[in-house]
Amino acid sequence: MELITLGTGSPIPDPNRAGPANLVKTGGKDFLFDCGRGVLMRSSAAWTGPLQFTRVLLTHLHSDHVTDFNDIVTMRWAMSPVEFPLEVVGPVGTKAFVDRTLAMLQDDIQYRLDHHDSLNWQPPVNVTEVTEGLVFDEDGIQIFAEQTNHAPVHPTVGYRIEAEGKVVVIAGDTTPCAGLDRLCAGADVYVQTVVRPSLVEAIPVPRLQDILDYHSSIRDAAATAANCGVGTLVLTHLVPGPAPGTESEWADEAAEGFSGTIIVAEDLMNIPV
Ligand SMILES: [Zn+2]
Ligand SMILES: [Zn+2]
Repeated sequence: MELITLGTGSPIPDPNRAGPANLVKTGGKDFLFDCGRGVLMRSSAAWTGPLQFTRVLLTHLHSDHVTDFNDIVTMRWAMSPVEFPLEVVGPVGTKAFVDRTLAMLQDDIQYRLDHHDSLNWQPPVNVTEVTEGLVFDEDGIQIFAEQTNHAPVHPTVGYRIEAEGKVVVIAGDTTPCAGLDRLCAGADVYVQTVVRPSLVEAIPVPRLQDILDYHSSIRDAAATAANCGVGTLVLTHLVPGPAPGTESEWADEAAEGFSGTIIVAEDLMNIPV
């Protein structure tokens, strides 16, 4: 299995970090988790793209995690020589989100239908809404979902991918909770979106302070990793984005609570699992 950190940023625009997105490659299949800003630019750098995605799995519908979903819908539809559904998995609400996205795209869809004789179908998108349990089971690859805690954003889910005798967890935005612990139990790699409270608290903007209570801090992520017997902790969705050269501070803070391997993610890291 391979984990590719396509986008390691957050809602805050960053010239070096695309929006949240992770790619898991296993058994010749490409699973995309979330599709933040610039996801198709980054996936093209990883030699994959909308036609190769087996599933797009969403952790939640916050804009930073889904802002380029429309790009995936359009490009998969416009580039495919045959009608080829996009399979989407996400929390309850995903179907309505997809329907609204398709409605937003109707002008463009009609332009292309009118222009291309070989394109005579609407973008096909199949949605599976999930709460918890097995959400994918094919060719020795199993993906499980659990509910996470990003209140007041609800519902949110995280994913556990089991394949090739290994486990990768894509937690999404969540504070520590029982669902997260179940996802992470004995995982080889645990990818957690994090904030660094000491930096956030130094920025006197009330709206920024609001983010502290619904994300894992670095210390929270380290505690979850330690409690669950994780092998490697990957810190991503870094808020606020670290100034160049200060990434090791984030790792050091995690190391205070977790003795395993710690990776402070950058875009397009390829992490073998
Ligand atoms: Zn969120
Ligand atoms: Zn987020």
